[in-house]
Amino acid sequence: MTEAPTQPVAAEAPEAAEAPEEKPRCACGTDRDSKYSVVDRDYSFLGTLYLLWGGTSVPRKVTFRCVKCDKAFESSTRPSVCRKHIM
Ligand SMILES: [Zn+2]
Repeated sequence: MTEAPTQPVAAEAPEAAEAPEEKPRCACGTDRDSKYSVVDRDYSFLGTLYLLWGGTSVPRKVTFRCVKCDKAFESSTRPSVCRKHIM
């Protein structure tokens, strides 16, 4: 594992800077990339049918849950996020 060299940090944040994607955390610090997060996928009715037929279906909503607290701390309907969590 190699760490990327430290990026120079801009002294002033430019107005047009891309807002970092929000990454909510659970009270215990679990975020969606943590190994303690589990993903619940929500499919539309057609999406469920498609899965039953053996197809791949993009969930319309994904919910991230912490296995330690059993609490959902984030859910997203963003297509880019949902597509990442295709079963
Ligand atoms: Zn937690």
